[in-house]
Amino acid sequence: MSPIRIHLSTLRAQRLQELRALFPNHKGADLTEDWIGGRAEGLRRLHAIKPALYEKTRNHINGAVTQLSPYLRHGCISLSEAITFTKTQSAPGDNKLLFEFAWRDYWRHIWYMAGEKIHSEMEPPKVKLGRNPLPPYITESQTKLPCIDGFVQTLKDTGYLHNHARMWLSSYLIHWQKIDWREASRWMHDLLLDGDEASNSLSWQWVASTFGSKPYFFNQENLSKYTQNQPCENCEVTCPFKGSYESLNLALFEPTTAPAKISTTSNFPLVFQHNGAEHIILFHDEMLSPMNPMYQRKQRKVFIFDAYFYQNWALKRLQFLADCLAEMPDVEVWVGDTLEVLKVLNTGSVETQMTPNTALRKCLSGCHITYVEEQPIYNETTKQKLNAKGIVRFSKYWNEVGAEILKRESEPA
Ligand SMILES: Cc1cc2nc3c(=O)[nH]c(=O)nc-3n(C[C@H](O)[C@H](O)[C@H](O)COP(=O)(O)OP(=O)(O)OC[C@H]3O[C@@H](n4cnc5c(N)ncnc54)[C@H](O)[C@@H]3O)c2cc1C
Repeated sequence: MSPIRIHLSTLRAQRLQELRALFPNHKGADLTEDWIGGRAEGLRRLHAIKPALYEKTRNHINGAVTQLSPYLRHGCISLSEAITFTKTQSAPGDNKLLFEFAWRDYWRHIWYMAGEKIHSEMEPPKVKLGRNPLPPYITESQTKLPCIDGFVQTLKDTGYLHNHARMWLSSYLIHWQKIDWREASRWMHDLLLDGDEASNSLSWQWVASTFGSKPYFFNQENLSKYTQNQPCENCEVTCPFKGSYESLNLALFEPTTAPAKISTTSNFPLVFQHNGAEHIILFHDEMLSPMNPMYQRKQRKVFIFDAYFYQNWALKRLQFLADCLAEMPDVEVWVGDTLEVLKVLNTGSVETQMTPNTALRKCLSGCHITYVEEQPIYNETTKQKLNAKGIVRFSKYWNEVGAEILKRESEPA
């Protein structure tokens, strides 16, 4: 398909329908009113955070979590401003939310270091893993387990799942069903509004034990406690999660030492000749805010719906991107192959925000490209230290950055 420029409607209902018509192969229901994309909604959520309550209730499925992840993922609000604002809303010592924000940055740090390797096993698994394919009875919510079917349905209906539900679901798929975590993680990624290659792949690896010292698994008592027993009340099948951690450990795992390093490197097919004259500011999907410093620039600004990057994403995720773009009228929206769009625009050079997304960087490598650093959450010296030490575990990462992230304005340096 040759590139086309599109003009998104300013009316949301109409815009969602335009996206449905433009991308007929993308599955799923429309984005709901609960998940309007863009900075205005991201800010509204940020201003509603309750850090003290978050700390007490975040593990509960109906706890005071922020639901900020799609807004952070797409750069509608920056991690740095979320951290700064959270400090104004919490007493020193109420640090749990700041700590969780750091997990997002930590996974990103690993993505910068490891690149596409995050999609293959980072370490040998500590228990034997399976390679079963993901069966339709799971993706169609037909396991007869109200908990698991409910999580899958929520994921498909809304594009969001609470962190604990993501942990239970991924653990069930990997350790009970022995499904290949790479296929399952890709499936979840493509359904999530906050789908993020690093947070997703590496969390799955943490559950699997290929990026952590042990597998994550749970029992019925744990699930019942944090769901107020709701799914269990309607359960009519023998619970596979019942039992002590010791008995489940014995039932689920055979130890293994077998490393199963399987690479998933992709080869980007096109090479771009940059003979044009235009300097293009490319807005990729991590920088969708009119407050992004690059939005103030005078040059032509472009966002591209490129099937190479988005072909498996649920429709509602594309609609979320469109909501974000509707707040950025100075950005031209195109549909097509990234390099072909750049050619049509007579591009001589491209500027964009730095990203660990290796597929995008590979795609742009033939262009005369300049990357502008993302807004940091710690200073350059700390960043260099992290990189120089090649830190891979969160505890070590936190030792390096924690004090700086937690530091309040009023505290002495
Ligand atoms: C199997 C699995 C897959 C995941 N996939 C993704 C993903 O694709 N994208 C994604 O953003 N997060 C992912 N996470 C992390 C986490 O579940 C979500 O960030 C969180 O549930 C988002 O909801 P929230 O905004 O209400 O989080 P809150 O609990 O309110 O946390 C606030 C913010 O902190 C960050 N955060 C909190 N916990 C984590 C964490 N464990 N890892 C990374 N960041 C965290 C997020 O940016 C989140 O928005 C995954 C976790 C698991 C176990």
